[in-house]
Amino acid sequence: MSSPVEYLTGVSAIRGDLLRKELNIFTFKDLLEHYPLRHVDKTKIDTIASLSTAIDYAQVAGKLIGMQMLGEKRSKRLVAHLQDNTGIIELVWFQGITWAEKLLEVGHQYVVFGKVSFFMNKPQIAHPEIETYSPQNAMGKSYLEPIYPSTEKLKARGLNGKAIGKITKDLILRLSEKDLPENLPISILEDYKLMKRFYAFQQIHLPANEKNYQQALRRLKFEEFFFAQFAIQSVKISRNQFSRGLSFEKVGDLFNQFYEKDLPFELTNAQKRVLKEIRKDTASGHQMNRLLQGDVGSGKTMVALLSMLIAADNGFQSVLMAPTEILAQQHYNTIAEQLKNLPVNVQLLTGSTKAKQRKPILEGCEEGTIQILIGTHAVIEDNVNFKNLGFAVVDEQHKFGVAQRAKLWKKSIIPPHILVMTATPIPRTLALTVYGDLDYSAIDELPPGRKPISTFHRFENSRPQVMDFIKKEIALGRQAYIIYPLIEESSKLDYENLMKGYEEVKSFFPEPKYWISMVHGKQTPEQKESNMQKFSSGDTNILVGTTVIEVGVNVPNASVMVIESTEKFGLSQLHQLRGRVGRGAEKSYCILLTSHKLSHDARERIKIMEETNDGFKIAEKDLELRGPGEMEGTRQSGALQFKLASIVDDKPMLEAARNAVSKILDEDYDLTAEENQPLKAFLQSQKGKTKWSKIS
Ligand code: ADP
Ligand code: MG
Repeated sequence: MSSPVEYLTGVSAIRGDLLRKELNIFTFKDLLEHYPLRHVDKTKIDTIASLSTAIDYAQVAGKLIGMQMLGEKRSKRLVAHLQDNTGIIELVWFQGITWAEKLLEVGHQYVVFGKVSFFMNKPQIAHPEIETYSPQNAMGKSYLEPIYPSTEKLKARGLNGKAIGKITKDLILRLSEKDLPENLPISILEDYKLMKRFYAFQQIHLPANEKNYQQALRRLKFEEFFFAQFAIQSVKISRNQFSRGLSFEKVGDLFNQFYEKDLPFELTNAQKRVLKEIRKDTASGHQMNRLLQGDVGSGKTMVALLSMLIAADNGFQSVLMAPTEILAQQHYNTIAEQLKNLPVNVQLLTGSTKAKQRKPILEGCEEGTIQILIGTHAVIEDNVNFKNLGFAVVDEQHKFGVAQRAKLWKKSIIPPHILVMTATPIPRTLALTVYGDLDYSAIDELPPGRKPISTFHRFENSRPQVMDFIKKEIALGRQAYIIYPLIEESSKLDYENLMKGYEEVKSFFPEPKYWISMVHGKQTPEQKESNMQKFSSGDTNILVGTTVIEVGVNVPNASVMVIESTEKFGLSQLHQLRGRVGRGAEKSYCILLTSHKLSHDARERIKIMEETNDGFKIAEKDLELRGPGEMEGTRQSGALQFKLASIVDDKPMLEAARNAVSKILDEDYDLTAEENQPLKAFLQSQKGKTKWSKIS
């Protein structure tokens, strides 16, 4: 299975090279996993008389009774007639005329396949596939003929979808069950009624009929899910069972004092539940790796803060890492304020912390005098060392790469407990697939008293009315965001649009009656911070900006969110942006401006936004619309690169595979049972070939 494709007849060095470059096909195994796009049914021979407009493709056999060239120049074409016992069909070529004319001979017998159309009630096939008649092909093929995906470059080298089919077929005919041994336990094959592996590979390429194809497909999809789940679940088990973790023995004075005296509100039940889960994990002696999902505004920060206090009670340091400078600053402000009555040293470290302030902070971390360090990715840089880091919070996880998170592990000999927080809810199926090795908590309840945000769609030409609406809100003392798309940091056009937009907003809101802040990615951190600060303190009425303000920003007095060119934003981004309002006591509004030209998907996104404020529902819809590969936070994940299976369309099967894996790992983690030997052998043969790794 690991032989290079060049070992196959018909694959020259040049073709082999192209197969590698164009389709990532290196080995026999890769070729077998280059699955057909579709199949064509040439198993039957139709009689010409039976053809009707009801059928699409047909295969007929008969004698060529005439052939002539018609038309001139551009309308030139070759027309031939084929006759069987029941009637006559016309065959026509507009291209490759010379080739066809040379190939065919009147009076000979042929088997012809193609798309049938009717012209003046007579059947016709344009550019048919045509083969010389033989007793064999006159009976029809014994299998459905596969058509494979190919590329322009491969086609230029004679490797179109059909030619790939030929080399694949040659390979399949050479294989035996030994080459593709069964890798699932018999009981699973029986329980889930799965086809055997070797047979499945054969039948997905060259199925005897549609039913066999479907069964082969089912078996191979199951296999994909099964091994993906096997990889993540075994990582999780080995971590839970064998990794050492810091043990937070007690809940002490810091926590208790804060909880009783300084907690500004009663926790929601969901917050309490998650806190208990974290408490249990951190006391277990094993490292915690927990994903905490909670919709925007659900109060994740408080959960993080309380957890960090427990760490401090046990003599451990904590870090809280935010994706942007603005957000880190904001977390620092809130947390430092909330902890002002407690003997807890909280510091802020970001890229823009001056060298003079940086030095004592680095020392404080090293000496252990700082209990809570808040910052951007600056906190995981190599020169930041801790005396005893025990707890790490990663806020708004999707902005951090896998590698950055891995760095956290190394900050302490025994890795710290890790809490990954995200406000971009991921549907449960996706979470299980991608983050299956993390424990999972959800805050599925908002603090009481929140008023749902009303969302409206408006076309650009009603911008003046929208601006008037903002004026009314400002007159009531509120503030507004106006957000422009910035697809790429470097995109010049996006900046031009933003500046044009800013000028336009200024013309609606002249100084000194109104004041406007602008925040975008090209400003220095200081500029951003000071502009943000002016908005946050209420000195400016309007914040014009790009999505740099997307995550976390908290200005409770803002009651209007206007999003320009809404069609350019993804659903989860829109939901994030909308979450910037509705944070205070006032009723809030989100207005989605678009041009008149909207794609189907854009319309769907807007409709969902108008219909619901529920981040989990929005995430499900996003997954449906865009597919798993495009979801925030999962893009770089190898976990979703299934060739056949889809976590959206095959959700029940994903659950089934997950259950099958849990059962095996529960009952026989070391795979010593007789019936698990095929599985064990397969896993050993795959060592070093999988794309799986720790994700946090
Ligand atoms: P997110 O989960 O989006 O990070 P935050 O932690 O920023 O949300 O919380 C949003 C707001 O809700 C903050 O102003 C916070 O103080 C407030 N909040 C959090 N928990 C509660 C609660 N249980 N009751 C009332 N307000 C709360
Ligand atoms: Mg937050």
